Amino acid sequence: MKFMTKKYSRKDLMKITIEEHLKCTEYPRVGATIAKDGIILSTGYRGEKKGIHAERVAIEKLNNEQLKDSILYTTLEPCVSIQKDQSVKSCSDLIIESGITETVIGVLDPNGTIYSQGYRKLLENNINVSFFNRKLREAVEEETFEYGEIHKIVGSGKRRIPVVNSGTSLDVQFSENDSRTIKLRWNTLQPNHNCVDLLSSNGAVRIASGASKFEDITDPMVFRFPSHYARMKKDMIAIVKPSRATFYVLIKLIEIYEKDILFKWEMRNY
Ligand SMILES: [Zn+2]
Repeated sequence: MKFMTKKYSRKDLMKITIEEHLKCTEYPRVGATIAKDGIILSTGYRGEKKGIHAERVAIEKLNNEQLKDSILYTTLEPCVSIQKDQSVKSCSDLIIESGITETVIGVLDPNGTIYSQGYRKLLENNINVSFFNRKLREAVEEETFEYGEIHKIVGSGKRRIPVVNSGTSLDVQFSENDSRTIKLRWNTLQPNHNCVDLLSSNGAVRIASGASKFEDITDPMVFRFPSHYARMKKDMIAIVKPSRATFYVLIKLIEIYEKDILFKWEMRNY
């Protein structure tokens, strides 16, 4: 291949990795590149081999000698084992055992159970970890997940969504096998005023004044002044609970962009 002897800068390697992830036909898109001294040794993307993660695709194209002291670029944080008896090794484990000495990550996984665990696991095992530059990170964020088409979210997690014109509606489902749902709507994004409105058609919305983390909130009903909407600013937490319901959702607004917002959520039993 023509790139085998050419030397690339780190920024170029990030861009090449993004080109790989754009080859994915399914979400989440993930691309990977392995390089040594700026020379590309292999690339991979999720779906290049059926059911195989991008990092593994790229790693399995190389032998131990090639992998030794190489750098892995990946658009998404490598996965970790969720169950102890998982039969297929997680990409984090694979990286740790491969001889790769540095991993450069595009975005952390917004999936609630994985978020920053891969990152931490690599660090704990003496793999250097760094991130794509801000501009390229944003490009990855916008292309990794099914963006803008989300109308249902489940359980807990973190997401960036566009809030334009008439707003964005979302159903938050309790879990994959529990269909209890809270209906949300993000509306009237005002980046100039750093605020966006959170509405619910089937629940009362409260601001958790003084709370900065979900763990701070043990009883949602201690927060007063339920309303049909809340004007949210960055770092605020809202609680949405349908009346008489035995469940509620916590919503934290993490960031406001020009046309989008980033928020996280957690469904809980009451
Ligand atoms: Zn993986």
